[in-house]
Amino acid sequence: MSAVDWSRVRADFPILSREVHGRPLVYLDSANTGQKPASVIEAVDDFYRRHNANVSRAVHTLGSEATEAYEGARRKLAAFLNVRPDELVLCSGTTFALNLVAYSWALPRLEAGDAIVLTRMEHHANIVPWQLVAERTGAVIKVAEVDGSGQLDLPALYALLTPEVKILAFTHVSNVLGTVNPAREICREARRRGIVTVVDGSQAAPHRALDIAGIGCDFYAITGHKMAGPTGTGALWGRRDLLQSMPPFLGGGEMIREVRFEGTVYNDVPHRFEAGTPNIAGFVGLGAAVEYLTSIGMAAIESREKELLAHATEALSAIDGLRIFGNAPEKAAVISFLVEGAHAHDLATLLDLEGVAVRSGHHCAHPLMHHLGVPATCRASFAFYNTHDEIDTFVAALLKVRRLLA
Ligand code: PLP
Repeated sequence: MSAVDWSRVRADFPILSREVHGRPLVYLDSANTGQKPASVIEAVDDFYRRHNANVSRAVHTLGSEATEAYEGARRKLAAFLNVRPDELVLCSGTTFALNLVAYSWALPRLEAGDAIVLTRMEHHANIVPWQLVAERTGAVIKVAEVDGSGQLDLPALYALLTPEVKILAFTHVSNVLGTVNPAREICREARRRGIVTVVDGSQAAPHRALDIAGIGCDFYAITGHKMAGPTGTGALWGRRDLLQSMPPFLGGGEMIREVRFEGTVYNDVPHRFEAGTPNIAGFVGLGAAVEYLTSIGMAAIESREKELLAHATEALSAIDGLRIFGNAPEKAAVISFLVEGAHAHDLATLLDLEGVAVRSGHHCAHPLMHHLGVPATCRASFAFYNTHDEIDTFVAALLKVRRLLA
C-alpha cells in the first residue's frame, strides 16, 4: 500500500477549512453524516448544469445521459460492495432499505408464533420497522444482549436462534459503541438454522472494505451520506432469489412493465422496488463518492481511522472522571463518553463554542441507552480526513469546558 498524503486528502473537503464561532472547525460527527469531497459536490453540480433529465423515460440525449449516469452509479456502488448491480436496489438510505425488507419480505411471510431476533445495539431504523411488522403479524421480537465491553454475547445470541426465528437483523458496526460485529460468523450460524439475515451496514461501508458476497448474509443495507455521498441516497442489496420473491413495496412509475386497470405487470428487480423519480443527482454524487473512497483505498482508510481512534482513546482515557462506553477490541472510530458531573448536551454545546462538533443524545438507540443506564452520551466520531492535531484540540477543549461546568 503506497503512503497516503492525508493533508492533501483533507484539502479535498472544502467545508473542513471553515470556522465555527471564530475557531477552525473540528468536525467529529462523521458517524452522523460524513463530509463531502469537492469531486462529489462537483459531480452533483455538473449533473444539474449539463445532464439533468429524468431516467428511463426519454429517448433524447439528456435522457440517455441521465439514465447512463444513474445506472453507472449503481454499477460503481455494486463493485464497491462486491455484489451484482442487478441485486442492488437504490433507495434513500438505510431506513428505507430496512423498511423495504420488513414490509416486502417479512410482512407477507411472518405469522403468529414466529420470532425476529434483533440485538441490543440496534439503531431505531433496525428496530421500529420490525416492531411494525410484528404488530401486524403476531410475531415476537427477541433481543440479543451485549456484554460490559459492548460486544454481542455470541453464545447467548446463538441460543436465541430457535426454530421459530425467521429473521435475524443486526448491525455490522454499532453507531454508539463502535463495536464491529463478526458478521460473517453470525450469518453462518443463522444460515445453518435456515434463518434469513439482514445486516445494517450504515456504519461499516464508510470505514472498511466490504465484501457483502463474502459475508453470506441475505440482505445488506447502506446509506450514502455517511460514505462521502449526498443525503437521500443508499441501497439495499438482496439475494436475487429473495428479491424476486418479494412483492413491490411502493407502486408508481418506473417499477412497472405494463399497467392496465385489470392488473399490472411489475418490472424486474431491482427496478421493481424503485418507484417514482429517484434522487438521480444524488446517485451521481454517490458514484463519485465511491470512486473517491476507492482512489484512497479502503484499507488505508481503515488503518488511518484506527490510528486516530487509538490516539483519541488514549487521550480521553487519561481524563479523570471520563467514562467511555464501548471497548470492544474490534472497534470503529467512534467514542461515546460522559464526563462526571456534566450533562452530555451541555458538553456538546460548549464544545461547539470551541469549534468542536460532537453529537450528544441517545443516538437513535434508546434500548442501548436504557441498558447503559444513561439518557444520553456525547459521541466523537472520526473519519480519515480528521487529524491528530484535531484530536488534541478536542481534548484541550474538553478539559476547558469541564472546568467551566465544574
Ligand atoms: N443504522 C445505523 C447504525 C445508523 O448509524 C444510521 C444513521 O445514523 C441509520 C441506521 C439510519 O440511516 P439513514 O437515516 O441514513 O437511513
